[in-house]
Amino acid sequence: MNLENVPEEESLDPADWQLMRSLGHRMIDDIMTYLETVRTRPVWQPIPEKIKAYFKQPLPVEPQGTEQAYQDFLEYVLPHPMGNIHPRFWGWVIGTGTPLGMLAEMLAAGMNPNVGGADHVANYVEAQVLDWCKEMLGYPAEASGLLVSGGSMANLVGLTVARNSKAEFDLRTHGVHAAPRKMTLYGSQETHSSVQKAIELLGLGSNAFRQIPVNSDFKIDISGLETAILEDRQEGYQPICIIGNAGTVNTGAIDDLDRLADICQREGLWFHVDGAFGALAVLSSELRPLLVGMERADSLAFDLHKWMYMPYEVGCALVRQEDDHRSTFSLTPDYLTHSDRGLAGGSIWFSDYGIQLSRGFRALKVWMSMKEHGAQKYGRLIQQNIDQARYLASQVEDMSELQLLAPVPLNIVCFRFVADDLDDESLNDLNKELLIALQESGVAAPSYTVIDGKYALRVAITNHRSKREDFEILVREVIRLGKKMMHSGQP
Ligand SMILES: *Cc1c(COP(=O)(O)O)cnc(C)c1O
Repeated sequence: MNLENVPEEESLDPADWQLMRSLGHRMIDDIMTYLETVRTRPVWQPIPEKIKAYFKQPLPVEPQGTEQAYQDFLEYVLPHPMGNIHPRFWGWVIGTGTPLGMLAEMLAAGMNPNVGGADHVANYVEAQVLDWCKEMLGYPAEASGLLVSGGSMANLVGLTVARNSKAEFDLRTHGVHAAPRKMTLYGSQETHSSVQKAIELLGLGSNAFRQIPVNSDFKIDISGLETAILEDRQEGYQPICIIGNAGTVNTGAIDDLDRLADICQREGLWFHVDGAFGALAVLSSELRPLLVGMERADSLAFDLHKWMYMPYEVGCALVRQEDDHRSTFSLTPDYLTHSDRGLAGGSIWFSDYGIQLSRGFRALKVWMSMKEHGAQKYGRLIQQNIDQARYLASQVEDMSELQLLAPVPLNIVCFRFVADDLDDESLNDLNKELLIALQESGVAAPSYTVIDGKYALRVAITNHRSKREDFEILVREVIRLGKKMMHSGQP
């Protein structure tokens, strides 16, 4: 073979490792300073048109180089964040992240393993993280599980196992068309949209999801639930699953999980719990009793990127019976056969328990963070957020200009600005404008919801950086903006 005219191979590694190393050091310095000084910047600001336009540039065909790529990041990306790492971000239910979590992401990407299976250490790290999660939440140690992108995917995994396990036929082979009776699932009207999405994706249709009314505490109405199951049975449906909420997204309500578990046991139904953020409240000794029954779930979905403050993305699905879990997802063609020895050995193949084959090393940031702080500290931070929610609620109740719109069982506070001479419709308009003004001011970023037809500013606290004074600033600013709008005749 004549090798004379063959060009030397290229790779994506740097020509000069020393240059790359110093760029890496600069990046760490820049981003650490960015984190350290986050409190001094606005929470969020609208992105200027000029910046948006920059992202319309065509595909780079020629190299622009490492330095240019980083400069563009500094100029166009870093200054225009969502704001969720800021101490006064309380929109939706969004986590904050941590410096070590960030560094662990870098290390994970450096090792870059595929955590779908095979015999290498990342699988053992993830298995240990799952064991720690089970221990933390009081879930049986024999349960199986896997880390996923978040609560939505964890709900999909849990509900898929529920559907396949409760089907009275080989659903994997014949599909939902073959169901002799239509399957139905039950949860409160406050259930998160990702549950409905999962049910739609499972081919059952959103009508199969019976959304049961809630009581004045926004918990599922148990007698309404029992009636719905009974009626469905009488009409020839096959009830398969109850979805319990451990912390609803609107108000943080926790269903009576123990009673739901009883009903599931009596009726032969699967019990799935969506504990996206609320499940972690078991780490608060004060709130733990509210979550009794969660440990009886057949499947449990929760997030680590919300109330465990891990960087995106990481959620977790746990399934009580390993067999049910595995038989839903395991599919092993020749090219994926596991062996006893060699690289394809090892007993942990996460691809047998979920939808993804190739999987990232999201376990590392969880593993390192849990070692860094220990479970007790997470318990204290969760309690701190709950105490802050109560503090904010008490401030709201003390102010004649503000009105609390829902009970505060957990870490979510829904309230609005009020004035005697305005009806609900005008108040809805005013509070809508007020929220936008507040967000655009950069002072604080709550989100909103609608409670009994009333537009509510909604503060969900899964933020380890928030302090008491941040909530005082929020209260002052909401009242100031509300009064200003009243005087200027807006809206
Ligand atoms: C956030 C949330 C979800 C969805 O979780 P993602 O991590 O956003 O996919 C599901 N249920 C509840 C109650 C949530 O708060």
